Amino acid sequence: MEQGKRWLAWIDGQEVAPAESRFFKVEEPATGTVLAEVAQCGPNDVKKAIAAARRSFEEGRWSQQSATARGKVLLRLAQSIRDNVDMLAQWETRQVGKPIRDSRDEVLTAADCFEYYAGAANKLYGHTIPVSAAGFDYTLRVPVGVVGLIVPWNFPFLITAWKVAPALAAGNSVIVKPASYTPLTALVLGRLGTEVGLPDGVLNIVPGPGRETGEALAADPGVDKVAFTGETTTGSRILQLAAPNITRVSLELGGKSPTIVFDGVDLDHVAYLAAQSAYANSGQDCCARSRIMVQQSIYEKFVEHYVKHVQQLSIGDPLNPENAMGPLVSASHRNRVAGYVERGLAEGAELVLDPRSKEVPAQGFYLAPAIFAQARSDMSIVREEIFGPVTTVQAFDSEQEAITMANDTTYGLSGSVFTRDVGQALRVANQVRAGVMSVNTIRSVHLEAPFGGFKQSGMGRELGMEALEMYTEVKNVFISME
Ligand code: NDP
Repeated sequence: MEQGKRWLAWIDGQEVAPAESRFFKVEEPATGTVLAEVAQCGPNDVKKAIAAARRSFEEGRWSQQSATARGKVLLRLAQSIRDNVDMLAQWETRQVGKPIRDSRDEVLTAADCFEYYAGAANKLYGHTIPVSAAGFDYTLRVPVGVVGLIVPWNFPFLITAWKVAPALAAGNSVIVKPASYTPLTALVLGRLGTEVGLPDGVLNIVPGPGRETGEALAADPGVDKVAFTGETTTGSRILQLAAPNITRVSLELGGKSPTIVFDGVDLDHVAYLAAQSAYANSGQDCCARSRIMVQQSIYEKFVEHYVKHVQQLSIGDPLNPENAMGPLVSASHRNRVAGYVERGLAEGAELVLDPRSKEVPAQGFYLAPAIFAQARSDMSIVREEIFGPVTTVQAFDSEQEAITMANDTTYGLSGSVFTRDVGQALRVANQVRAGVMSVNTIRSVHLEAPFGGFKQSGMGRELGMEALEMYTEVKNVFISME
């Protein structure tokens, strides 16, 4: 894709100009300048994409194709993503502001994701069921049909892959609504899909504002399922839009995840990991462990190590591979996050790392890390998802108090526990009400394992075989022997 060119929607295997000739601007967070102008799809464009997806689904060149053949096309798509890693990583970094090393890793992980589902496509089995009538009963997993995929801006390409790969592997036709800050790499994916042999209409990309384009997709009776990742309030709105048509919905929503640290661990190493987890992607990560909970006996020492490691994170131009943190995605998001620093101070928490103490580039939407110690569970900085480089550290005395503190949230996405006591690790991992728990590590996402939240962090699961099942309906067939 060339710099300066207008980016069109991708519908029915080709570039399509928006029906109402409207375009919106995508800014580069590192500079604050305009990076691209992108087609703003209105309800008519969404209708066009849904019609193309429906036609392709019913023609059956993808949905009725053998799962093995679908897998081969997805393998080619994975290879094409690898071949284009530098181009995709550049656009990703320039549209989100994330460090270029991270963009490369995410693009390559997206390729892995397509490979995983290429192999999984023909391993989706039904059951044979010993029913009491005389005959043979079996189940099939069939594609849901036309699927709308609504994606956020924090991991634009990777989360698109998490949804597109299993949805296509299962035989669906899809329409992706990328986030308005970051529509570019999803548009590239549409083109690559057609190049490697996806039939026209199977993968469509419709950029545009959530309030218009996203709502048109979620509310349309021609869409059989919506898979959404984003804020909890938006997820709730999507449930309402889908309800009249009984459209299937799966939701990956916000988080306020804990890192729980018990006495006896290697403090410096755990503090390093805690910093990595909380400040990667500038904290714009639903899994960011933004609530750190530390046993009272090691609290002071831990805070010292934690502040040191966070201070060492280099912040600056995301295209410079030396930098660990880039800018936030937009000026308004930066201002919103900076507002939490003011709120934390007003609520009486102790600002042990002040973002103003670190120099950041004057241009662009930068915010240096902040850490609050002596935080309490009733403070907004502990309760609300900040989605930026601001974390809190709380002290606990007992294991039970740590579990109660970790569960004192409306969210339940992920969490980490660090301890040398295996029994304690198992007890805490079992009792924290979250979909994904990690012991002695901050790793919470594996392509092969289910990922998703309890409580207001969502419903349904991404990744693993669970995601493939989520893009299917179960059909039961009974053959009479009479
Ligand atoms: P939003 O909910 O604002 O947006 C997500 C997507 O939904 C965007 O494409 C957006 O479009 C669209 N959208 C917005 N409003 C509507 C609407 N009324 N109807 C239909 N679609 C709509 O989230 P963010 O993009 O701000 O992403 C950050 C959030 O995502 C955080 O809360 C984070 O925790 C969560 N997240 C969860 C993950 C998980 O797996 N649980 C993973 C990653 C992020 P537009 O961009 O045009 O507004």
